[in-house]
Amino acid sequence: MNIKIYLILILGFTGGLVKILGSILHGSRSLFVDALTSFANLVSLLATIYFYRVSRMPPDHDHPYGHYRLGFGGSFVSLIAYGYVAGIASMELLYSIEYTVELESLYYALAGLLLYGLAIYLSLEIGGFFKAYGLFTISELYESMVTLIAVVAGALYSYLIDYIGAIGLTLYIFYELFSIGRETFYSMIDKTAPQQLLEEVKRVFEEMGFQITDLRIRCIASNIYHGDIRIKMYRTMDLNNAYRLIKELKKYLKEKYNLELVVEIDLH
Ligand SMILES: [Zn+2]
Repeated sequence: MNIKIYLILILGFTGGLVKILGSILHGSRSLFVDALTSFANLVSLLATIYFYRVSRMPPDHDHPYGHYRLGFGGSFVSLIAYGYVAGIASMELLYSIEYTVELESLYYALAGLLLYGLAIYLSLEIGGFFKAYGLFTISELYESMVTLIAVVAGALYSYLIDYIGAIGLTLYIFYELFSIGRETFYSMIDKTAPQQLLEEVKRVFEEMGFQITDLRIRCIASNIYHGDIRIKMYRTMDLNNAYRLIKELKKYLKEKYNLELVVEIDLH
């Protein structure tokens, strides 16, 4: 693995550790909830890297259509991790009685912000799949900033400001749960391909002189499709020529659109 990936993991872990330490030593509940989201983020990152790798494995005897959908494992683990910390955060807030926030919490919040800033910078620099992680994790920076303000105001004015900050961060975890959950669910339900791809398939088959009677395409994973098409060909058409054309079309669609198509031919 790239050395930068290890660095991102270390930065994320240290960021979470610093925040949890600060909250235990100096009383901030905002820092506590922020630390929980850092750990959930880290677990999600590890799971996403792992499942992304296995999803790229070529088809084998037990997964003849490929391993693409194993990629959803990352989202599943994220949902469990964020769900778990949402529960802990809720309980912590529910059972918090009047407390004091010490101004030292500020240093821990700042350190957390810095460590996450670096992790995101590295992710964006690696690019590709890590860019998505980096963009997703930018929310950690916003959370750190909310924490920073809550911690300072909580120490200077009232613990209630820190408490309200913590409630805001907890609500945000629930929002993330909802949004990851919704996205994952809708990616798994065999939705059809975008209209553009359906029309392209129709166009290329019709251009070669076939008549389409049925076409079904489903989305297997992001930008990967599987489907079947039923076409009519005239008896006057040369059979060898037709088979060659179909083979070429299948190859074209597979290479250009990641679409694996099963073709059924009716003669008339
Ligand atoms: Zn397999």
